[in-house]
Amino acid sequence: MNYILTDEDMKILFSRIKEEYDTYGTVEKEGDIVYEKVDGFESITFGRSRYAPKEFLIERNENVLNLPVQQKKAVFGVMSCDLKGFYVMDKQILGKDPFYTQRRQNTLFVNFPCNVECEGGFCSSFGGPLLDEFQIQVARDGDDFIVSASKEYEHLFDGFRKTGDEQIRKLRKNFLKNAKQLPVEGIENRIKWDSKLWKKYSSVCISCGACNYSCPTCYCFDLFDQDDGRIREWDSCILSGFTSTSAGNVRKELDERLRQRFYHKFVYYRKSQGEYLCTGCNRCTEDCPVDIDIKEVVTHDYSSE
Ligand code: SF4
Ligand code: SF4
Repeated sequence: MNYILTDEDMKILFSRIKEEYDTYGTVEKEGDIVYEKVDGFESITFGRSRYAPKEFLIERNENVLNLPVQQKKAVFGVMSCDLKGFYVMDKQILGKDPFYTQRRQNTLFVNFPCNVECEGGFCSSFGGPLLDEFQIQVARDGDDFIVSASKEYEHLFDGFRKTGDEQIRKLRKNFLKNAKQLPVEGIENRIKWDSKLWKKYSSVCISCGACNYSCPTCYCFDLFDQDDGRIREWDSCILSGFTSTSAGNVRKELDERLRQRFYHKFVYYRKSQGEYLCTGCNRCTEDCPVDIDIKEVVTHDYSSE
């Protein structure tokens, strides 16, 4: 169901949600947008967060011998590229990883779709920014908000003005008018195992792992024991220790590890889960210190090699 809400209505909606959840949102801090605990709708800034909000579901580092009881959280301001990341990861880990699953079930993500595609971003290539899957979606339309809620959250909207889906369709059309859609569809069949791209990237990549850590869909981890427990920690497929076994690393060369990252995103996940493991947020490109751009992997002419 869709509703038209004013600024005042949004404050009321926020306080209704606050009665059931601990509330977090995007706020401006030292020139960046970050997630913090917030007490009112007026504290929230619309804009893409510096870091993907995956930490709400997958902690950087935690002891997996104890499953802590998860407080119900509502997170306001989640951009569509980051929200899509959760739906994409769900396919692989929801119901299998008890930590992720418990947090996913106890977290309400309030999605703020963008009105125009951001510089460098390519979410429109993956169906963004007005996604079909969401819990609550808050789209700015002039002075008002067009707010859509899935069935489970409709009780929060009692007394608000209902509307059809014409405005949403109009917003989607306006967004797509200026979006730079890339030819993602079918990349799993075009990409080439021995492409010259992998050597080109490995000649400059410094194996920092930033592309993985900043990605809303990278969920790989390392597991090790220490005195106080068994620790699970974010890992990166670009690092030389990734998938290392007593027999050594299965991907010894950096170009093999870089290829693995792109093949996981654009080939293996697509074939096993029906989705690309990328949402077009462009964070990996922005955070790469040597300017490796994932968009080149999508647009490269493999047939000419
Ligand atoms: S653009 Fe890069 S960081 Fe963003 S979802 Fe795709 S692979 Fe991950
Ligand atoms: S962010 Fe760039 S330099 Fe760092 S590991 Fe990824 S590709 Fe390599």
